[in-house]
This record gives sequence, structure tokens and C-alpha cells, in this order.
Amino acid sequence: MKTKKPKPKFKRFFRKQDCYFCVEKIEDIDYKDLAMLRRFLSDRGKLRPRRSSGNCARHQRLVVKNVKRARIMALLPFSVEHYR
Ligand SMILES: [Zn+2]
Repeated sequence: MKTKKPKPKFKRFFRKQDCYFCVEKIEDIDYKDLAMLRRFLSDRGKLRPRRSSGNCARHQRLVVKNVKRARIMALLPFSVEHYR
């Protein structure tokens, strides 16, 4: 016996714009703006994936680029040791 369950349809058309940079209309990301970059890092200093940060592909790329730049400039840690 097969009963077809109606799949829930997600209305993608009306999905809220989640990307912080698109909402705030920020075009360029500054690697020195640590308070802003930290929003996209986990508590252990890891980069949060797009599904978690909610950024669009374009801005997530910029965030990753600038976080890596900030790490090289020693503004952000590569990893947080001894967190426990
Ligand atoms: Zn965006």
C-alpha cells in the first residue's frame, strides 16, 4: 500500500534576505573590521559555513577572503587553543 504524502512546498520566493551585507548594502568588506568579521566565525575561531552565516555566495566569498587576510595579519586567530 502506497500513500503519497504531499511534500511540503517551501516558498523560496518570499524567503527573507538573510545576507548581512546585502541587507546593509555593504559592498566592500574591510579585513580590519574585526567586530564585523567575528560575526562569521564560530566561538572557536572557525569560519562558519554559508548555511549558518546566511550570507549569499558572493559575500560569503568576500568574508572568507578577508578573514584569511586578517589571520595572516594576526588580527584573528587561526584556531582557538585550550578552549576547554
Ligand atoms: Zn550578499
